[in-house]
Amino acid sequence: MLPPLSPPPPPAREGPRGVAVLGSTGSIGRQTLEIASLFPDRLRVHSLASGSDWAGLAEQARAVRPALAVVADPAAGPALADALAGTGIRAASGPEALAEAAALQGVDIVVAAIVGAAGVAPTLAAVEAGRTIALANKETLVVAGALVERAARASGATVIPVDSEHSAIFQCLVGEPAGVVDRLILTASGGPFRARDRGDFDGITPSEALAHPNWSMGAKVTIDCATMMNKGLEVIEARWLFDITPDRIAVLVHPQSIVHSIVEFVDGSAKAQLGVPDMRVPIQYALTWPERWPAPHPRIDWPALGRLDFEPPDLQRFPCLDLAFDALRRGGTAPVTLNAANEVAVARFLREEVRFSDIPRLVEAALASANGRADEVPGLDDLWEADRLARATAAATSPRVSA
Ligand code: NAD
Ligand code: MG
Repeated sequence: MLPPLSPPPPPAREGPRGVAVLGSTGSIGRQTLEIASLFPDRLRVHSLASGSDWAGLAEQARAVRPALAVVADPAAGPALADALAGTGIRAASGPEALAEAAALQGVDIVVAAIVGAAGVAPTLAAVEAGRTIALANKETLVVAGALVERAARASGATVIPVDSEHSAIFQCLVGEPAGVVDRLILTASGGPFRARDRGDFDGITPSEALAHPNWSMGAKVTIDCATMMNKGLEVIEARWLFDITPDRIAVLVHPQSIVHSIVEFVDGSAKAQLGVPDMRVPIQYALTWPERWPAPHPRIDWPALGRLDFEPPDLQRFPCLDLAFDALRRGGTAPVTLNAANEVAVARFLREEVRFSDIPRLVEAALASANGRADEVPGLDDLWEADRLARATAAATSPRVSA
């Protein structure tokens, strides 16, 4: 991973950069392909992978012409193979094929854009193969941060953040020596309920929670933004990306989402990275780093911007953020429990089985009943055992009865 708080030297490359897109049919995946299409001479897509959407994947593959297209769900394998018959594109399915898509010959950069804990194994495979990882799947670092760090040290893999806040911090650190950072400040939009009264949280519907004021994203991360669990997961992500202790990571609510994050230095200076909220910018930077390539992404209209607001997060209304800090301090498998219980809680909320305000309750219940291991580097088996237990607890915890 990164040496302490300082970006690594860039890998030597000649010719177009070979790209694997894991999670190509999702929000980040589609935007990655859009970036690739802007630079046909400099980026070459070698492999694509999706979860179960074989039809969307086949359509992308016909347009992009990768060597390999993988659908993770084995049941969708035959349909993908049929759809790509005669194209010369190899079709495959299942977990091993997913890992192969990440480590394929000719792939320099793996865009890890699968959602949730499903992204851990293929991302880890890419790290072990020594690839450069453009990491969107924050859950990988939440669940297996210590393992990823160890594997990256062994293989020489580099992890470049795609998440806008971490990309901002990464960009602020370019050119800085190690040991000069005081604090990282992750900004948060505060989501759609930033100003909503706590007493009204019970009535929040999935469609309200899916309407993010500034960003258009996949459903799971959008709900995470509404509960602020997303920021909690990002705090844990920052701990591993930048090798920094939790007490030196702060969160600041910034409703306009223009300042993507801030680095405070030991001499009292601070740097921030700003931009229109558009994920194509951090995705592109992860693909082009350490270079910047000209692109027509929207620019900030400074006079129209007028003002930038900042406020501390309200932990009473958004307890998920506190739960994430707690899990990070506890270490071991506690972040795995947090993440798995949250995935289940979000899915139950989207199915209208539990209320919005039950999401932190389900996560807290899972954390309370976890017999978490506190090893510094838990093994994969321990991680999946903690994951399984947390999912079971969060699925079985009944929603609070109305008063
Ligand atoms: P999404 O739901 O739009 O897409 C998810 C992708 O993962 C799809 O291609 C889907 O087919 C694939 N997938 C799902 N389950 C899979 C499985 N079991 N095996 C293999 N592939 C599977 O999600 P998204 O919004 O693009 O988010 C992807 C990741 O990026 C998440 O970790 C999210 O937190 C992170 N992220 C997203 C944004 C954003 O703007 N969308 C911003 C920052 C970080
Ligand atoms: Mg983010």
